[in-house]
Amino acid sequence: MSIELTVVGCSGSYEGPGEPASCYLVTVPGKHGKPFRILIDCGNGALSNLHKVIDPSHIDIILVSHLHADHFLDLAGLEVYLAYHPLVNCPTVRVFAPEGIDERLSAATGNPDPIPPGASRAPYEFIPLAEGDSIEAGRAIITAVAVEHPVPAFGFRIDVGDTVLAYTGDTDTCEGASTVAHGADLLLCEAGYVEGRDDHFQGIHLTGKRAGILAREAGAKKLLLTHIPPWTDREVPLEEARAEFDGPLELAEALHTYTL
Ligand SMILES: [Zn+2]
Ligand SMILES: [Zn+2]
Repeated sequence: MSIELTVVGCSGSYEGPGEPASCYLVTVPGKHGKPFRILIDCGNGALSNLHKVIDPSHIDIILVSHLHADHFLDLAGLEVYLAYHPLVNCPTVRVFAPEGIDERLSAATGNPDPIPPGASRAPYEFIPLAEGDSIEAGRAIITAVAVEHPVPAFGFRIDVGDTVLAYTGDTDTCEGASTVAHGADLLLCEAGYVEGRDDHFQGIHLTGKRAGILAREAGAKKLLLTHIPPWTDREVPLEEARAEFDGPLELAEALHTYTL
């Protein structure tokens, strides 16, 4: 195993019935034989499923693709766990995120101080992301690539040796998305929109068709569609993508694990 991806939540734009919004646990080899655990995004509802897949105190770093609620809001709940769990001595976790997450999160939690009232340490250390940033995570190198969305947003490439997991975050078709997806062994790609129905939106989300084109043109080996909103028939983006991409193709499922 080089990279293991567990989908914690994959509902698009908000949590659906029993379906948390975007959150992914990625496990890579660590430097001393221990697994290194990366949490990518933590949208509304994610913390509920997160407890089913990991003790949250075992998360080594957190990456946030952008500051929409469906990608970061449950960091407010995770802060409570990390700050106040009476039985677990939680470490401070580094959070790589677009600038401003500290103010956004403190507006949600009501704690203006990095150390919540009565806690002994800050649950998070925030590190602002910039285009092209390279982050060492165990034996993985993570590259942050700016993508097209109404707010500053990043996709991530996670390289372990020759194995690549690519995550688009939220984006429309753009050069950054192609850079993220290039030659990926697994492309975890959003498909928030549907052709026709959502044509009046520009620069926000991909469709199944645009995800399929991205995967084909980038030479991705496998495509996993995610971020499908609760009001969309999931077969529609799947069929759109299938018409463009010949390789293995699936819809992301919460609590499923994919091994690269
Ligand atoms: Zn989103
Ligand atoms: Zn978004």
